[in-house]
Amino acid sequence: MGTRVGAGWFFKSCGQCQFCLSNRQNLCSHFEGTGRDAHGGFATHMLIPQQAAIPIPSTLEDHIAAPCLCAGAVGYRAWLIAVENVGTIDSIGFMGYGASAHLLTAFLRQKFPHIHIHVFARREESRRLARDTGAGTVTPPHEAPPSPLQAIIDTTPAWEPVIHALDFLQPGGVLVINAIAKESTDQNALMHIDYRRHLWMEKKLTTVANVTPRDLNEFLTLCGSIKLPIHVQTYAFDQLPQAIIDLRHSRGVGAKVLLTPP
Ligand SMILES: [Zn+2]
Repeated sequence: MGTRVGAGWFFKSCGQCQFCLSNRQNLCSHFEGTGRDAHGGFATHMLIPQQAAIPIPSTLEDHIAAPCLCAGAVGYRAWLIAVENVGTIDSIGFMGYGASAHLLTAFLRQKFPHIHIHVFARREESRRLARDTGAGTVTPPHEAPPSPLQAIIDTTPAWEPVIHALDFLQPGGVLVINAIAKESTDQNALMHIDYRRHLWMEKKLTTVANVTPRDLNEFLTLCGSIKLPIHVQTYAFDQLPQAIIDLRHSRGVGAKVLLTPP
Protein backbone atom coordinates (compact mmCIF):
# COMPACT_ATOMS: atom_id res chain seq x y z
CA MET A 1 0.00 0.00 0.00
CA GLY A 2 1.17 3.49 -0.79
CA THR A 3 3.95 2.41 -3.16
CA ARG A 4 4.28 4.56 -6.28
CA VAL A 5 3.92 2.21 -9.25
CA GLY A 6 3.62 2.61 -12.99
CA ALA A 7 1.78 0.65 -15.65
CA GLY A 8 3.94 -0.18 -18.65
CA TRP A 9 3.04 -1.68 -22.02
CA PHE A 10 2.66 -5.14 -20.42
CA PHE A 11 -0.84 -5.46 -18.96
CA LYS A 12 -1.59 -9.18 -18.89
CA SER A 13 -0.79 -12.55 -20.47
CA CYS A 14 -2.28 -16.04 -20.05
CA GLY A 15 0.21 -17.14 -17.38
CA GLN A 16 0.10 -20.78 -18.51
CA CYS A 17 1.70 -21.18 -21.94
CA GLN A 18 5.33 -22.13 -22.61
CA PHE A 19 6.22 -18.46 -23.07
CA CYS A 20 4.58 -17.25 -19.87
CA LEU A 21 6.22 -20.06 -17.90
CA SER A 22 9.68 -19.11 -19.19
CA ASN A 23 9.56 -15.34 -18.56
CA ARG A 24 8.68 -14.57 -22.18
CA GLN A 25 5.18 -13.25 -21.57
CA ASN A 26 5.85 -10.80 -24.42
CA LEU A 27 5.40 -13.67 -26.90
CA CYS A 28 2.18 -15.06 -25.37
CA SER A 29 -0.68 -15.24 -27.89
CA HIS A 30 -2.93 -13.70 -25.20
CA PHE A 31 -0.58 -10.77 -24.53
CA GLU A 32 -2.52 -7.62 -23.64
CA GLY A 33 -1.03 -4.14 -23.92
CA THR A 34 -2.04 -1.20 -21.73
CA GLY A 35 -4.06 1.35 -23.66
CA ARG A 36 -4.58 -0.97 -26.63
CA ASP A 37 -6.21 -4.05 -25.07
CA ALA A 38 -6.93 -2.63 -21.61
CA HIS A 39 -8.45 0.74 -20.75
CA GLY A 40 -6.49 3.25 -18.74
CA GLY A 41 -3.85 4.65 -21.08
CA PHE A 42 -5.22 8.17 -20.63
CA ALA A 43 -6.92 7.70 -17.24
CA THR A 44 -6.16 9.26 -13.87
CA HIS A 45 -7.06 5.96 -12.14
CA MET A 46 -6.95 2.39 -13.39
CA LEU A 47 -7.13 -1.18 -12.17
CA ILE A 48 -4.15 -3.38 -13.13
CA PRO A 49 -2.98 -6.92 -12.33
CA GLN A 50 -0.31 -7.00 -9.62
CA GLN A 51 2.25 -8.34 -12.10
CA ALA A 52 1.77 -5.22 -14.23
CA ALA A 53 2.37 -2.81 -11.35
CA ILE A 54 6.00 -1.70 -11.64
CA PRO A 55 7.51 0.05 -8.59
CA ILE A 56 9.06 3.39 -9.54
CA PRO A 57 12.33 4.30 -7.77
CA SER A 58 12.01 7.49 -5.71
CA THR A 59 14.81 9.12 -7.72
CA LEU A 60 12.74 9.07 -10.93
CA GLU A 61 10.22 11.86 -11.47
CA ASP A 62 6.88 10.89 -13.03
CA HIS A 63 7.62 12.44 -16.42
CA ILE A 64 10.95 10.58 -16.61
CA ALA A 65 9.51 7.26 -15.38
CA ALA A 66 6.68 7.34 -17.95
CA PRO A 67 8.82 6.96 -21.10
CA CYS A 68 11.03 4.44 -19.24
CA LEU A 69 7.92 2.24 -18.83
CA CYS A 70 7.18 2.42 -22.55
CA ALA A 71 9.81 3.22 -25.21
CA GLY A 72 12.65 2.77 -22.73
CA ALA A 73 11.71 -0.72 -21.58
CA VAL A 74 11.24 -1.99 -25.15
CA GLY A 75 14.63 -0.49 -26.04
CA TYR A 76 16.11 -2.23 -23.01
CA ARG A 77 14.71 -5.55 -24.22
CA ALA A 78 16.25 -4.92 -27.66
CA TRP A 79 19.58 -4.29 -25.90
CA LEU A 80 19.26 -7.58 -23.96
CA ILE A 81 18.61 -9.42 -27.22
CA ALA A 82 21.70 -7.82 -28.76
CA VAL A 83 23.83 -8.90 -25.77
CA GLU A 84 22.39 -12.41 -25.92
CA ASN A 85 23.44 -12.64 -29.57
CA VAL A 86 26.93 -11.16 -29.52
CA GLY A 87 28.09 -11.36 -25.90
CA THR A 88 30.08 -8.41 -24.59
CA ILE A 89 29.27 -5.30 -26.60
CA ASP A 90 31.85 -2.59 -27.27
CA SER A 91 30.06 -0.80 -30.09
CA ILE A 92 26.38 -0.31 -30.81
CA GLY A 93 24.39 1.71 -33.32
CA PHE A 94 20.88 3.12 -33.28
CA MET A 95 19.20 3.37 -36.67
CA GLY A 96 16.59 6.10 -36.15
CA TYR A 97 16.52 8.35 -33.11
CA GLY A 98 13.08 8.39 -31.52
CA ALA A 99 12.26 8.11 -27.82
CA SER A 100 13.47 4.51 -27.50
CA ALA A 101 16.92 5.11 -29.00
CA HIS A 102 17.24 8.36 -27.04
CA LEU A 103 16.49 6.71 -23.70
CA LEU A 104 18.83 3.81 -24.44
CA THR A 105 21.65 6.16 -25.45
CA ALA A 106 21.30 7.99 -22.13
CA PHE A 107 21.06 4.71 -20.22
CA LEU A 108 24.07 3.05 -21.89
CA ARG A 109 26.19 6.19 -21.62
CA GLN A 110 25.73 6.20 -17.85
CA LYS A 111 25.81 2.47 -17.23
CA PHE A 112 28.50 1.41 -19.73
CA PRO A 113 30.66 4.48 -20.45
CA HIS A 114 33.21 2.44 -22.44
CA ILE A 115 30.72 1.43 -25.17
CA HIS A 116 30.97 3.34 -28.43
CA ILE A 117 27.52 4.54 -29.46
CA HIS A 118 26.82 5.53 -33.06
CA VAL A 119 23.51 7.12 -34.08
CA PHE A 120 22.08 7.13 -37.60
CA ALA A 121 19.42 9.84 -37.91
CA ARG A 122 17.87 11.73 -40.81
CA ARG A 123 17.28 15.04 -39.04
CA GLU A 124 20.10 17.31 -37.89
CA GLU A 125 18.01 18.10 -34.79
CA SER A 126 18.04 14.41 -33.82
CA ARG A 127 21.75 14.02 -34.52
CA ARG A 128 22.43 17.02 -32.26
CA LEU A 129 20.38 15.54 -29.42
CA ALA A 130 22.15 12.19 -29.91
CA ARG A 131 25.54 13.88 -29.58
CA ASP A 132 24.39 15.82 -26.51
CA THR A 133 23.11 12.59 -24.94
CA GLY A 134 26.40 10.78 -25.38
CA ALA A 135 26.61 9.28 -28.87
CA GLY A 136 30.29 9.23 -29.87
CA THR A 137 29.57 9.54 -33.58
CA VAL A 138 26.52 10.35 -35.71
CA THR A 139 25.72 10.14 -39.42
CA PRO A 140 22.66 10.19 -41.69
CA PRO A 141 21.19 6.65 -42.10
CA HIS A 142 22.91 5.89 -45.41
CA GLU A 143 26.38 6.96 -44.26
CA ALA A 144 28.75 4.40 -42.75
CA PRO A 145 29.94 4.74 -39.15
CA PRO A 146 33.72 5.21 -38.60
CA SER A 147 34.02 1.44 -38.13
CA PRO A 148 31.59 -1.52 -38.37
CA LEU A 149 29.39 -2.10 -35.31
CA GLN A 150 28.74 -5.21 -33.23
CA ALA A 151 25.04 -4.51 -32.83
CA ILE A 152 22.51 -2.13 -34.35
CA ILE A 153 18.99 -1.48 -33.08
CA ASP A 154 16.65 -0.28 -35.82
CA THR A 155 13.58 1.73 -34.79
CA THR A 156 12.62 3.10 -38.20
CA PRO A 157 9.35 2.25 -39.98
CA ALA A 158 11.19 1.68 -43.29
CA TRP A 159 13.18 -1.06 -45.06
CA GLU A 160 16.08 0.82 -46.57
CA PRO A 161 17.65 1.48 -43.13
CA VAL A 162 17.58 -2.30 -42.54
CA ILE A 163 19.76 -2.87 -45.60
CA HIS A 164 22.17 -0.10 -44.55
CA ALA A 165 22.33 -1.48 -41.01
CA LEU A 166 23.21 -4.98 -42.23
CA ASP A 167 25.96 -3.43 -44.33
CA PHE A 168 27.40 -1.59 -41.30
CA LEU A 169 27.61 -4.67 -39.02
CA GLN A 170 30.82 -6.44 -38.04
CA PRO A 171 31.13 -10.16 -38.84
CA GLY A 172 28.96 -12.00 -36.29
CA GLY A 173 27.06 -8.79 -35.54
CA VAL A 174 23.34 -8.56 -34.87
CA LEU A 175 20.62 -6.27 -36.13
CA VAL A 176 17.59 -6.04 -33.82
CA ILE A 177 14.50 -4.51 -35.40
CA ASN A 178 12.48 -2.69 -32.76
CA ALA A 179 9.35 -1.78 -34.72
CA ILE A 180 5.74 -2.95 -34.47
CA ALA A 181 5.34 -2.68 -38.24
CA LYS A 182 7.27 -1.78 -41.38
CA GLU A 183 5.72 0.33 -44.13
CA SER A 184 5.41 -1.19 -47.59
CA THR A 185 6.45 2.05 -49.34
CA ASP A 186 10.12 1.13 -49.74
CA GLN A 187 9.84 -2.63 -49.47
CA ASN A 188 11.53 -2.94 -52.87
CA ALA A 189 14.76 -1.99 -51.11
CA LEU A 190 14.89 -5.62 -49.98
CA MET A 191 15.67 -6.57 -53.58
CA HIS A 192 19.08 -4.96 -53.04
CA ILE A 193 20.20 -7.40 -50.37
CA ASP A 194 23.54 -8.79 -51.42
CA TYR A 195 24.19 -12.06 -49.65
CA ARG A 196 27.93 -11.63 -49.34
CA ARG A 197 27.80 -8.01 -48.26
CA HIS A 198 24.74 -7.95 -46.00
CA LEU A 199 24.29 -11.44 -44.55
CA TRP A 200 27.37 -13.61 -44.88
CA MET A 201 29.92 -13.88 -42.05
CA GLU A 202 27.24 -14.94 -39.59
CA LYS A 203 25.41 -11.65 -39.38
CA LYS A 204 22.14 -12.06 -37.51
CA LEU A 205 18.79 -10.37 -37.98
CA THR A 206 16.07 -10.52 -35.34
CA THR A 207 13.22 -8.47 -33.88
CA VAL A 208 11.96 -7.41 -30.47
CA ALA A 209 8.28 -7.68 -29.55
CA ASN A 210 6.56 -6.14 -26.51
CA VAL A 211 8.09 -6.36 -23.04
CA THR A 212 7.94 -8.68 -20.04
CA PRO A 213 7.30 -7.68 -16.42
CA ARG A 214 10.95 -8.58 -15.76
CA ASP A 215 12.20 -6.14 -18.45
CA LEU A 216 10.10 -3.38 -16.91
CA ASN A 217 11.17 -4.07 -13.33
CA GLU A 218 14.86 -4.40 -14.24
CA PHE A 219 14.95 -1.30 -16.41
CA LEU A 220 13.14 0.90 -13.89
CA THR A 221 15.42 -0.31 -11.08
CA LEU A 222 18.55 0.34 -13.17
CA CYS A 223 17.30 3.78 -14.21
CA GLY A 224 16.68 4.62 -10.58
CA SER A 225 20.36 4.09 -9.81
CA ILE A 226 21.72 6.53 -12.41
CA LYS A 227 21.20 10.04 -13.66
CA LEU A 228 19.13 9.85 -16.83
CA PRO A 229 19.67 13.07 -18.79
CA ILE A 230 16.80 12.64 -21.23
CA HIS A 231 14.87 15.22 -23.18
CA VAL A 232 11.14 15.00 -22.45
CA GLN A 233 8.50 17.18 -24.05
CA THR A 234 5.36 17.31 -21.90
CA TYR A 235 1.85 18.11 -23.11
CA ALA A 236 -1.10 19.23 -20.97
CA PHE A 237 -4.04 16.83 -21.29
CA ASP A 238 -6.05 19.17 -23.53
CA GLN A 239 -3.07 19.28 -25.93
CA LEU A 240 -3.51 15.59 -26.76
CA PRO A 241 -4.53 16.20 -30.42
CA GLN A 242 -1.41 18.34 -30.90
CA ALA A 243 0.78 15.66 -29.30
CA ILE A 244 -0.53 13.06 -31.74
CA ILE A 245 -0.01 15.37 -34.72
CA ASP A 246 3.56 16.13 -33.59
CA LEU A 247 4.25 12.42 -33.18
CA ARG A 248 2.83 11.63 -36.62
CA HIS A 249 4.97 14.29 -38.29
CA SER A 250 8.12 13.59 -36.23
CA ARG A 251 8.09 17.09 -34.76
CA GLY A 252 10.37 17.70 -31.80
CA VAL A 253 12.94 15.29 -30.41
CA GLY A 254 13.26 12.96 -27.43
CA ALA A 255 10.27 11.52 -25.59
CA LYS A 256 6.74 12.92 -25.46
CA VAL A 257 4.68 12.67 -22.28
CA LEU A 258 1.01 13.54 -21.83
CA LEU A 259 0.18 14.88 -18.36
CA THR A 260 -3.15 13.71 -16.96
CA PRO A 261 -5.13 16.20 -14.84
CA PRO A 262 -4.24 15.98 -11.11
ZN1 LIG B 1 0.89 -17.16 -22.14
